[in-house]
Amino acid sequence: MPSFSPDERPLSTGSVLTLQQRRLRQILWTVIAAFGTAALMSFSKGSYTSVSLELVAMALLGIAFRWNQRGELAKASRLMLVTLIAGLFGLMATGEGLYDEGTLAFPAILIFAGMFGNRRMLWVLMAWLQGALVLLFVLHETGVIRAAAVPVDLQRLVMMAAILAAIGFFVWLLTSDMQRTLAQLASEKEALAESHQRIDVLAHRDTLTQLPNRTLAKDRLEQLLLQARRDQCMVAALYLDLDNFKTVNDSLGHAAGDELLCLVAERLGSGLRECDTVARLSGDEFLILLGNIHTEEAVATSAARVLQLLAQPFALQGLDVVVTTSLGIAVAPRDGSDVDELLKNADMAMYRAKDSGRNAFRFFDASMNESVVEHLHMASGLRTALAQEELQVHYQPQFDLHSGRIIGAEALVRWKHPTLGFVPPGKFIPVAERTGLINEVGAWVLHRACLDARAWRQQGLGELTVAVNVSPLQFHRDSIEREVANALAACQLPASALELELTKSLLVADAHHLSEVLQRLRALGVQIAIDDFGTGYSNLGYLQRFAVHRLKIDQSFVRKICTSTHDEGIVRAIIEMAHCLGLEVVAEGVEDRPVLERLQGFGCEFGQGFHWSPALADDEFRAYVRRFQPA
Ligand code: C2E
Ligand code: MG
Ligand code: MG
Repeated sequence: MPSFSPDERPLSTGSVLTLQQRRLRQILWTVIAAFGTAALMSFSKGSYTSVSLELVAMALLGIAFRWNQRGELAKASRLMLVTLIAGLFGLMATGEGLYDEGTLAFPAILIFAGMFGNRRMLWVLMAWLQGALVLLFVLHETGVIRAAAVPVDLQRLVMMAAILAAIGFFVWLLTSDMQRTLAQLASEKEALAESHQRIDVLAHRDTLTQLPNRTLAKDRLEQLLLQARRDQCMVAALYLDLDNFKTVNDSLGHAAGDELLCLVAERLGSGLRECDTVARLSGDEFLILLGNIHTEEAVATSAARVLQLLAQPFALQGLDVVVTTSLGIAVAPRDGSDVDELLKNADMAMYRAKDSGRNAFRFFDASMNESVVEHLHMASGLRTALAQEELQVHYQPQFDLHSGRIIGAEALVRWKHPTLGFVPPGKFIPVAERTGLINEVGAWVLHRACLDARAWRQQGLGELTVAVNVSPLQFHRDSIEREVANALAACQLPASALELELTKSLLVADAHHLSEVLQRLRALGVQIAIDDFGTGYSNLGYLQRFAVHRLKIDQSFVRKICTSTHDEGIVRAIIEMAHCLGLEVVAEGVEDRPVLERLQGFGCEFGQGFHWSPALADDEFRAYVRRFQPA
């Protein structure tokens, strides 16, 4: 590596000025030293007039030195030039006039003016120097200068003036080239510095939100971990994922999605401490780093605040869009002492938060590791499950509580895994939703259920309906209506024999799109039910906005209807409310006769549950119907 002495550093950005200042300082030193030497020599010769002239020149140069130090470069160089010309002229006039060695300094003055001044200064100086020559000639002629050995003639003056003019012209050419090169160099340096800065931003910042990106976030986490080790405190990494970002993107468009991400970034930035870091890792994933933490409660408080901050509606394209967030938290040193481990564990905890119903935060715990391995197995297994025909649809009979007859069945998917055995849908449906496989699984179940329902009718089991669960994610694709229509047509099943159950929560941002899709499905003649009513985001808004026929009361309330007055109250209220809105009610999870009787008393129309039967394979279901209600 080359090393530079302080005065030989290469040019840095905007440093042409600094370089000129440095050079002027060096020149001033040299000129002061030259005048000093001249003063000593004059003193030794006893020519005291020269000594005093030289001392005055040195004093003026000293002032120029001060000005240069203060950055007043133009003023300093002008003073130096005037001093030089006046000093030289004085010395030459008191010395040997046009024969004086002072003329040797004239080109140096011109070069200096070319370097430091502008074109005008060069020509002004040239005029002064020519004037000085003429004046010296006049002084010779008038006999003021007598020291010269040989008298001067006009020819000598003209020669000297011509040489000086030629030198001036060369200096002008040279220095204007040099100044142009310097200016070009400086602007190139500036451009280079700017592009370095841009590269730095690109490498460390997310271009959409301007938040630190993954690289910078990891860097900051590394620093926080080092500091935490020194200060004996904790660091928390909060992995944040927007629960329904895809919905916003799909329903309102990518521009709205981008806008939402920027708003989220802004809100996160405003709601955290100055010293905390918010980074965007990818898509809708953000990372929050909290340093200098002493208790887990402090982390939990911050996490709760983040959830609350983001739960406020976002104004997007004239709509109030509500998004919820899942947060996974890993705390160092407990959950890992290096960056990658901590991020991995926070990510894992985030998935757990999603599984637990979303809009929640979860701290990492070691048992999550095992379930993640299981999740990975499941995700890859599920891909082949469809092709290998490992999925099956079972049917749970549904009853009319008034007549006691079977009116149809709910189709419930089953996965017979070659090594894990029967995997419950509660385990693999969330995996399918996360991996996007739910669309294929859903379409397959729909087709299978329609085929089987058609067969029931053909085999004289009666006008049974089939209820198929549909994940909210399937509604985000516009193909759902086509899929339903195709399945009905392919299986020759009347639309009235099919019911779609909307499972779990649907985003508020979906409302418009969803209600349109539901209207069109309803127009096909398909029945619509809201599943698991009473849990999650179930609210009256759904019922008013969407064209639904039925409500399914969640089994968690139904099961305790005889033991908990609270749950009994809820079930009763749901039934009454549904009736007021002209909707029918299906109670799920009816496990015994007292529950059934209580539901009948409340006027509930339909029911399903272990009191009658669990979900059965297709052939078992047919046998059950034949046994239960012979044609
Ligand atoms: P769900 O739609 O609410 O289905 C009812 C669940 O309750 C079923 O569990 C059923 O076996 C169970 N169940 C029925 N009667 C009783 C009872 O008396 N007592 C008790 N304890 N449980 C009862 P399953 O089959 O494990 O399904 C769980 C969830 O998985 C379903 O809840 C549904 O949300 C989802 N699911 C099942 N099949 C599909 C599907 O094809 N597509 C989608 N998207 N989701 C599905
Ligand atoms: Mg259901
Ligand atoms: Mg349900």
